[in-house]
Formats: sequence, structure tokens, C-alpha cells
Amino acid sequence: MRLTILGTGSARPVGDSGQSGVLVQSGETSVLFDIGSGIASQVEARVGATNLAGLFVGHFHADHWIDIGPMRYRFPWADDAPRKLPVFLPSGGREKLQHLAAAINERPTFFEPAFDITEYESGTAYPVGALTVTPHAVGHYVPAWSMDIRGPGGERIVYAGDMGPSEMVIDLARDADVLILEATLETGATDDARRGHLDTPEAIDHVRRSGAKQGILVHYWSERRQIIRDLCAASGVAVVPGVTGMVVQIEDGAVRVEAPDVPAWFPPHAGRGVSGATD
Ligand SMILES: [Zn+2]
Ligand SMILES: [Zn+2]
Repeated sequence: MRLTILGTGSARPVGDSGQSGVLVQSGETSVLFDIGSGIASQVEARVGATNLAGLFVGHFHADHWIDIGPMRYRFPWADDAPRKLPVFLPSGGREKLQHLAAAINERPTFFEPAFDITEYESGTAYPVGALTVTPHAVGHYVPAWSMDIRGPGGERIVYAGDMGPSEMVIDLARDADVLILEATLETGATDDARRGHLDTPEAIDHVRRSGAKQGILVHYWSERRQIIRDLCAASGVAVVPGVTGMVVQIEDGAVRVEAPDVPAWFPPHAGRGVSGATD
């Protein structure tokens, strides 16, 4: 099994990455998890939307699904696609898609020829080609789900998505091969009382306590990458900030991270704290 990080940004745009998107592949099966701004292009660069076996959206914040609009244009305009893309959405997803269609296209049925929609349920296992995916509800500002992704050889990835501190995710990722976590905040002290995101030390602590072989941190402002790298390196835990194009191979119980050489990046225009919005 192999995963590719397609984007590491949060809601505020950054200059060197799209938003949320993770591609998981096993044999001929390619499944996309989240499709924030910039991810539809990344899919085309690597596999092509029409070759996906499925798409799972973890929650309805724009930075996790807004590129489903552009992706639609890879499928036939009016006639049914020869093979519709199975799209797995949280409860209420069909209606959300109709609203999005009304906003960006004159036809409320815009998405129907392309996508085969399933509104998933917590704790239900969905087989998609060679993979099996089970969504689990997790605490965020809006209803949100972590994804337990299992391969045919017992390989296991937990893509936790946006969340506050979660004992459930630590248990879910117990001894997983890879745990993908967000590291959104500079400090959890600024978060709402009902937590919706993690800071980097919290994310590292989740990886440590889960016993996952490898942690990957995503959903961060790019100008914080070096700080996150340093915290990871000092932690003694197998955890690194994800970067766009990072590939993680899981084979025979071993996990190998292949990261492109992405430098620490400082935005030419936006300083830190320009917007506190994270989503
Ligand atoms: Zn988000
Ligand atoms: Zn969110």
C-alpha cells in the first residue's frame, strides 16, 4: 500500500500547497481522501479522476471538498459516465451537492451523471477495490469523520482529518502503520473551549501514544513548516510534517517515507497571524 500527500494547507491559501488531499493506492485501486482547493489538479498529475476507485470526504468545510466542483469536469458533460465515481459523503451529502450545483452550475443535477453517491455511516466498513474504509465520528467544529483505511495485506492507515484532542483516534490508530494528523494551531490555548484542532505538540503526543509506526502532520500554514519540523525532530517520535508529493510506502510491515526536497517556506505577502481562520 502506498499513500501520497496531495496537499498540506488549511483553509487560508498558501503559496506552495493545496489544501487537504491524501491519495491511497493498493494494486490497481486508487482512493482519494478529501478534495480541498488545489487537489483536483494534483489528482490529474498523479492518477486522473476517472481512474479513481472512490472519493471520501471527511467533513463539509470547503478546504476538504470544494474541488469536487472542478473534478466534475473530468467526466462527461450530460450523459452518464461509463463508470461513475463512487463518492462517499457524510450524512446530508446529496443535498449539499445539489446546493453546490445550484451555486456553480445552472443544473441542480450537475453532479449526477458523474458521481455515485453514498452517505456513509460511522463504524460501517466500505470496501472500495482492494481497500476497506471505515469512517469514525471525531470532534471538530462541525460533524467530522476520521478514516480507518485497511489494505489487503493488513496494512493500515488512519487519516484522522480535522479534530481536537481525541482518545478515540489514539485508540483507532493503535499500532497502525501510518497516522495522518492535523497540526493546525500555533497553540491549543487559543482554540475554542470545545476543541476543534490540534497544535503540533498535541499531534506528536497523539502519534506517540497510538504507537503508530509513522506519523505525518498536515493541515498547517506553510510558514510554520520549519517550526513543525524542529518539534518533530526533537520529539524522538517517528513523525514528520507532510509536504505535497510526499510518498509513504507500506510493505511487509515496513514503512518508508520518500519526501521531495521542499525548503522551509516564508510567504512574500502574508505574515503570520493575518487570519486566524483555519477550518
Ligand atoms: Zn480543514
Ligand atoms: Zn474543518
